[in-house]
Amino acid sequence: MDYCWSYNSAFPHDPTRLTHLADKNYPGVIWVDINGQRMIDEFTDDLKSINDTYLNADENIVYFIISEEMLTDDNPILNVAYGPKDENNKLFFEELEKGNLVFEGNTPEELAENAGINPEQLRKTIDTYNTYVDNGEDADFGRTKELKKLEGKLYAVKTIPYAIMTYGGIKHNVDAEVLDVNNEPISGLYVAGEAVGNVQLSGENTCAGSGLGQATLFGRVAGKNAAKNALE
Ligand SMILES: Cc1cc2nc3c(=O)[nH]c(=O)nc-3n(C[C@H](O)[C@H](O)[C@H](O)COP(=O)(O)OP(=O)(O)OC[C@H]3O[C@@H](n4cnc5c(N)ncnc54)[C@H](O)[C@@H]3O)c2cc1C
Repeated sequence: MDYCWSYNSAFPHDPTRLTHLADKNYPGVIWVDINGQRMIDEFTDDLKSINDTYLNADENIVYFIISEEMLTDDNPILNVAYGPKDENNKLFFEELEKGNLVFEGNTPEELAENAGINPEQLRKTIDTYNTYVDNGEDADFGRTKELKKLEGKLYAVKTIPYAIMTYGGIKHNVDAEVLDVNNEPISGLYVAGEAVGNVQLSGENTCAGSGLGQATLFGRVAGKNAAKNALE
């Protein structure tokens, strides 16, 4: 119960629940923490490393940095979570206006001041990164994709992790009966859905479908046995 499965790139437009995501592979993007440091090859396919980046980032905040010229209307950086894109970057510019989650600056230092990032370090990070683009080689993280210079007006988009499901659950048997402290079934009490807690089978990584899988499987088993129990 001390663990939960979490993902990356949540855009906390509504701080109480996941509503929007930012595009972690936006063309040309780099990620920095609040100290202004890059942490990873932003285009890695290794989901665990991506999620660990959020786990290890100070305050679990990761800023996506792009330049004004990278942002285009036909490729918005925000989208409704598992839904449509932020048409014409409407939400992006609304949030830029509010100044809590999207920030701008004509220099790395100005951007950093506005976003709450370490200005000196952000300047260093961007200067260093731009030399990597010139050399065609990311000497820190070996990134090969989308190496584009960050110049001119810059934007920062604040992102955080979001919880997918809990790992722990209620002790039960194969008939979905809840077990007591002596591992004996408690009559008439069944468990289904995420409360089953089978997701720890994924270990440190994620196993697609295990949440919905346990929900549908144990929903059926628990429902069937509860009905049977009621008829007896
Ligand atoms: C963003 C996100 C992405 C995910 N992606 C995946 C994925 O790709 N693959 C995967 O396997 N799992 C995924 N999961 C996990 C998976 O969705 C959950 O583990 C699963 O849906 C849990 O099923 P459940 O039946 O326990 O709960 P839920 O699906 O939450 O269902 C509970 C239902 O009960 C209703 N309810 C609550 N209170 C009451 C009440 N008092 N009266 C009546 N109804 C009530 C709720 O409205 C809800 O419809 C994801 C979860 C999240 C949050």
